[in-house]
Amino acid sequence: MKKILITGAAGFLGSHLCDRFINESFHVIGMDNLITGDLKNIEHLFKLENFEFYHHDVTKFVHVSGELDYILHFASPASPIDYLKIPIQTLKVGSLGTHNLLGLAKEKKARILIASTSEVYGDPLVHPQTEEYYGNVNTIGPRGVYDEAKRFQESITMAYHTYHGIETRIARIFNTYGPRMRLNDGRVVPAFIGQSLRGEDVTVFGDGSQTRSFCYVDDLIEGIYRLLLSDYVYPVNLGNPHEITIKDFAEEIIKLTGTDQKIVYKSLPVNDPLQRQPNISKAKELLNWEPTIDRSEGMRRTLAYFQNLSKEELYKSEHRDFSK
Ligand code: UDP
Repeated sequence: MKKILITGAAGFLGSHLCDRFINESFHVIGMDNLITGDLKNIEHLFKLENFEFYHHDVTKFVHVSGELDYILHFASPASPIDYLKIPIQTLKVGSLGTHNLLGLAKEKKARILIASTSEVYGDPLVHPQTEEYYGNVNTIGPRGVYDEAKRFQESITMAYHTYHGIETRIARIFNTYGPRMRLNDGRVVPAFIGQSLRGEDVTVFGDGSQTRSFCYVDDLIEGIYRLLLSDYVYPVNLGNPHEITIKDFAEEIIKLTGTDQKIVYKSLPVNDPLQRQPNISKAKELLNWEPTIDRSEGMRRTLAYFQNLSKEELYKSEHRDFSK
C-alpha cells in the first residue's frame, strides 16, 4: 500500500484529497494545525484503518516514521480575509512549511506536489494566464503575504528538484469551489450563497466587472491526481477557463437560490485582480485533463451542501482564535 502525507488535510481541498487517495487505496496521513481547517471535514475518515491524523504545524520540524511515497502540501490560509488576519502564519506555511516538507521528501525519497496558485500572476497583465507569464504582484500589498510565499514556494521547490534531484510537482490552482468551503472565510462563493440563504443583500465588491473562472472541486482533485502521477516538473495551471464577471455571478446565484435578494456594491479590496482566466493547454496536453462539471451543476451541488448546514451554522459568525 502506497503511503501519502497530505498537509492541510482538514481544509477544503485537503479533505477532498484525503477522500480521493483513500478511495485509491492509499494509506493516508492527514496533517493540519486546525487554524483554518475543521475536523468535521474529515471526521468520517477517522474510523478507517488506512487513515491517520497528526495535529501538527508544518512550520515546525515534520516527522513521519517509516516509509513515505508521496507528499501533497496543501496547508495554507487561502482567502483574502485570512491573509489580513494571519499574515505571518500565511508567510510561514508557504516558506518554512514548504522547506520542512521538501526536507522530508528528500529524506524519504518521496515525490512532493505543492499547491501553488493563480495568485502568483498577481493582477495579471496577460490574459488568459499561461504558465510562462511571470506575474504582476505587489509584494507589500495585503495579498503579498500569500502571493510571495507561494512564489517563494515554487522557487524552493524547483531548487530542491535541481540540486537534490527530488521529484517535485507544482500545481497552479485557480479559483475552486464546492462543498466544505468555510461559510465565512470571505471568498465569493460561500459569501454569496450564505447571504442568499440568510436573506441578506448580496455584496458585490467594486462595480462587479472584475472576472473569475470557477472550477468545481472534483475536477480540480482529478487534475491534482493526474499531475502527481505524471512526470512533469514545471508548473501546471489547473482551473476552469469559463470566465464570468462577479456581477453576473451574483445574479446567477440569486437565480439559483430562488431568492430575490438585492445586490449592493462595496468598495473593491486593494489589489483585487481585475481579470483571471487560466490557459489550461498544458494540463490538456500533458495530463489529458480538463474540467467536466459546468458551473450550473457544480453550483447546484455546492448549494445543496450549504442548504444542509444547520440554522445555527448558517448564522454563526466566525470566532476563530487566530492568535496561536
Ligand atoms: N467578492 C465580492 N463580494 C464578496 C466576496 C468577494 O464581490 O462578498 C469578489 C472579490 O472582490 C473578487 C472575487 O469576488 O473580485 C473573488 O473573490 P475571492 O475572495 O473568492 O477570490 P480571489 O479574489 O482570491 O480570486
